[in-house]
Order: sequence, then C-alpha cells, then structure tokens
Amino acid sequence: MIKYSLICEREHVFEAWFSRGSDFDDQKKSGLLICPICADKTIDKAIMAPAISTARKQEAMMQSQKKAMSMMNAAADKIRKEIANKCENVGDKFAEEARAIHYGEKQERGIYGQASPDESSALKDEGIDVSPLPNIFVPDADKKLN
Ligand SMILES: [Zn+2]
Repeated sequence: MIKYSLICEREHVFEAWFSRGSDFDDQKKSGLLICPICADKTIDKAIMAPAISTARKQEAMMQSQKKAMSMMNAAADKIRKEIANKCENVGDKFAEEARAIHYGEKQERGIYGQASPDESSALKDEGIDVSPLPNIFVPDADKKLN
C-alpha cells in the first residue's frame, strides 16, 4: 500500500491509499478519483515540499523583519538627531536642571541627562514629568561617554 496526498482543481488536499503507484494513474484515467470535499474529478498528486516552503517562509519573514528594523532605525535616527539638535545634555545635573526649569529659575528648554532612580521619583513627586530616554534615542556622541 502506498499513500498519496492528492489535490483537486479547487485545491482541496486529501489523502488516498493505493495498492501500488500505477493504481493512481489507472484510477485517474478511469475517472474513479473524486475529491471528497467538492466531488471534483480533476485530481492530481499534491506536491509536498514542506522543507522548502518553510525555508522560504522564514526567509520572507526575515526580510520583512529586516525592513521593519531598518524603518525603526531610520525613525530612531531622526529622533536621535532631533534630540541632539534641540536638547541640551546636562549630564548628571539632570535633576537639578529639570527642577530649575520647572520652577522657572531657568529658561525652558529640552534637556536630557542622567538621574538616579531616587532623583527621578523625587522629581515625579514634585510634579515634574520625566521619562527615561531609550538608549536607541540617545545621541551617538553622548553614548560613548556613558
Ligand atoms: Zn475539491
């Protein structure tokens, strides 16, 4: 006995047993092969190639991931440049500067820099909204200092 995966013209795939390989051809010629789903009589052996199709799928997925990554990198690059151009790196004086700006002691401007978790939560308690800057947005020049 030999098992074949068969496919009809409407792409229904089903399996059928034959006593030997030539039985498939004989039954097909005699019109004995019928799709169990739609009763179509145009039946062929289904081409089964899972290894290839999986590899292709993975490749296609890799490609779309690469594309998404490069789009994200481009977007991050833009933000990084914006931050570098418009914001001032105040280093470890971040909490001090943020507070001075908040209370109007210093001119309002975009700043970024380091703050300890204690400093961050102290700022938040004072109603000063700070948020962590993801590393991907930190301008390159400053990244090297860290
Ligand atoms: Zn069918």
